[in-house]
Amino acid sequence: MRTVDVIIVGASLSSAAAAKRLVDAGLETVVLERSRLPRHKICSGILSPRGHRFLLENFGPLPAEVLHQPTSCRGVTFHFPSMVSMPMDFFGGPTPHLHRKFSDYWAIQRSGAEVHDQTSFVGLHDHGDHVMVQAKRNGEPVEYRARQVIGADGPSSPVVRAVYPEYQKSIPWFFVGQKFHEIIECPLDEQYFHFWFHPKLGHYTWSHARDGRQIVGVGFKRGDNFAGKHANVVNYLAEKHGVRLHPHTEDEGCGENFGPSLINRYVFGKGNVLITGQAAGFLNMIGEGMSCALHSGAICGEAVVEARLHNRPMQEMYRKMIASEVQRTTDQWNPLKIAFARPHEADFPAALMALSRRDRVKVLRDMWRFVVLYKEFKWGRQIMRAAMQRSLFGSYSGKLWQ
Ligand SMILES: Cc1cc2nc3c(=O)[nH]c(=O)nc-3n(C[C@H](O)[C@H](O)[C@H](O)COP(=O)(O)OP(=O)(O)OC[C@H]3O[C@@H](n4cnc5c(N)ncnc54)[C@H](O)[C@@H]3O)c2cc1C
Repeated sequence: MRTVDVIIVGASLSSAAAAKRLVDAGLETVVLERSRLPRHKICSGILSPRGHRFLLENFGPLPAEVLHQPTSCRGVTFHFPSMVSMPMDFFGGPTPHLHRKFSDYWAIQRSGAEVHDQTSFVGLHDHGDHVMVQAKRNGEPVEYRARQVIGADGPSSPVVRAVYPEYQKSIPWFFVGQKFHEIIECPLDEQYFHFWFHPKLGHYTWSHARDGRQIVGVGFKRGDNFAGKHANVVNYLAEKHGVRLHPHTEDEGCGENFGPSLINRYVFGKGNVLITGQAAGFLNMIGEGMSCALHSGAICGEAVVEARLHNRPMQEMYRKMIASEVQRTTDQWNPLKIAFARPHEADFPAALMALSRRDRVKVLRDMWRFVVLYKEFKWGRQIMRAAMQRSLFGSYSGKLWQ
């Protein structure tokens, strides 16, 4: 059995950020990763300016091998059923197009933590002054003893399941899948990530260029038909945008916990177990999750250091410190902030105002029709309640967090 200060589950970006803070503070930190490293991660790899700054400031300049082609992205283009398209550049210029397999490996190595790959977290028991962690390496049980455990293990987090067995059953789940196509002809600007606000295409529809191929992706409520939804989008892109693609050569998909950040229902853990990154519910608008994974991970690491230094309860410290990241993430979904502030990292209000009055009306009508698609999840009232709280008290309530 290995005894350490902190065990982090998952070797992703939130993990690297947390590990960096812990290692810098002199804490012995071991990261458990179920896959062999460097591991694949399904992701478009479009990094927000804030995520880019974080990587530069904490891990240094990005090496060329952690990037896909095209190596940078200028911003996002929104497309609407009325055939209005709105390109929006990121504030501060283009950002790197990350190849997650290599960028995550690079970041975790730069964190200085010891990494045990091919080691799957199985369960834990919090004894108050320490936590026992059970894992499996090559099918064999291994055990760790740590003062704290951080779950940085992504949307379907086994650590969340260990601490709150009912939580994941209580939230809606989506499936996101993408297929890779050789290109015959593609008029979509490869410098942008393209997103469709189209209720007939799905809850989340995107396309972008990667390494000479075109990705076509769809997101929908779990249980629907991936092949059918995807074929529908490919036909739509051909008919409306003149995109001509060869049949797909590869595909992949996964479950997503899209929702907790919209309605301020994050899960931060219990006792000596802290949850961070997308496992905690952090996801920005348009499914951008890397910047909030990095920042929440760093805050989680800092909270462990601070609580130990001042002998304060771990959860109290983490919840106090994480409020700033909750604010940033949930603001992106807050209709009052979208209307009257600039919570995003590309200028949506300016792009909207640059349209003719007639197109602006079309866009707002199309957006409303798209939002109605989400009606069945009953998020509307909860989003408005959170927005009012934010306006009246300056922050989102921590009472809904687990
Ligand atoms: C199709 C798609 C496209 C996306 N595109 C973008 C984008 O362009 N830009 C963006 O910012 N975000 C994007 N995201 C979201 C982004 O990928 C995530 O929000 C982000 O990776 C979350 O980081 P994380 O550190 O919380 O965890 P993750 O990246 O999910 O990593 C969790 C890690 O935990 C490991 N793990 C899981 N279970 C165990 C276990 N039992 N034991 C040990 N290890 C375990 C996993 O193997 C993994 O390495 C996309 C997501 C998807 C699905």
